[in-house]
Amino acid sequence: MELRQASSATELDGATPVHGGTEVVPLLRAGLLSADTLIDIRPIVPRGISRERIGAGATLAELECDPQVPAALREACRLAASPQLRNMGSLAGNLLQATRCWYWRLNWPCRLHGGDECFAQEGEHREHAIVANDFCASGHPSDVAATLVALDAVLHTSTRTLPVAELYRLPTEDNRATTTLEPGELILEVEVPPCDASVYLKAMDRKRWAFPLVGVAAARSGDSTRIALAGVAPVPWLLDGELDDATPLPGNAYKVELAQALVRRAKTALASA
Ligand SMILES: Cc1cc2nc3c(=O)[nH]c(=O)nc-3n(C[C@H](O)[C@H](O)[C@H](O)COP(=O)(O)OP(=O)(O)OC[C@H]3O[C@@H](n4cnc5c(N)ncnc54)[C@H](O)[C@@H]3O)c2cc1C
Ligand code: SF4
Repeated sequence: MELRQASSATELDGATPVHGGTEVVPLLRAGLLSADTLIDIRPIVPRGISRERIGAGATLAELECDPQVPAALREACRLAASPQLRNMGSLAGNLLQATRCWYWRLNWPCRLHGGDECFAQEGEHREHAIVANDFCASGHPSDVAATLVALDAVLHTSTRTLPVAELYRLPTEDNRATTTLEPGELILEVEVPPCDASVYLKAMDRKRWAFPLVGVAAARSGDSTRIALAGVAPVPWLLDGELDDATPLPGNAYKVELAQALVRRAKTALASA
């Protein structure tokens, strides 16, 4: 396998982009990703942080301690992964991480791998999705993605500008992809509109270094509050209502109550902020 340094965002030539490598390297090792050429994109992806614009190459460690970053995003980064991973892991890489579904990670021939079955639905699904889970029941693992959706952030890529929510799609029979990123498209910057207050709350199996069972991000601007959840759907989930229409699986109904409790707490926190 060849490793090249990128010199331009428009000339990836079919190579697989790698930034911190905390996701790419384990996927290559597990045989879940194959690549003839890796291209180190660190020289061409902006990394600076300002009040409303964040370079997609900023690490989670840089974001968690920068006072210009909204409180919810700082907290989502602080609660993600381990200090070592946050030092290496970039914002864009976090948004593009693959599912943690153990069937997928063990390379079972499930729907997300192009097969015709979701093994989690009949099997082990304690950590899986409680909404939009009929085709693939994976729970989106990114604390950061849900937070950027709540903050109504916008991505600038090498080819377009789009709301963060539109980076994601629910997989279907005809198209198993979970993002709308095109081959060769690079995420370059994230624009975060100002808000009056924001908060991120996370329920996890351990106090540190665990993916969200449920993560709740909430952001208030004037009279309007946006709430988005991690770990409850195959994509970051913008909340519309109270989760009354959730469709939990037999082994994860506990997540509905957990999510509702965290949403109540997040609203209370915003009200007093
Ligand atoms: C053990 C472990 C625990 C973790 N826990 C959490 C957690 O609790 N919460 C959470 O939110 N995350 C968690 N993570 C995810 C972690 O934050 C990501 O692995 C990390 O942020 C990825 O960044 P990276 O730069 O290393 O990505 P890379 O591995 O370099 O890349 C990841 C993917 O993004 C693509 N890519 C990278 N940058 C760009 C770009 N600019 N444009 C287009 N494509 C790009 C790559 O091609 C690849 O597909 C965990 C990861 C691990 C391994
Ligand atoms: S939840 Fe999704 S990734 Fe997991 S087994 Fe089902 S189809 Fe595959």
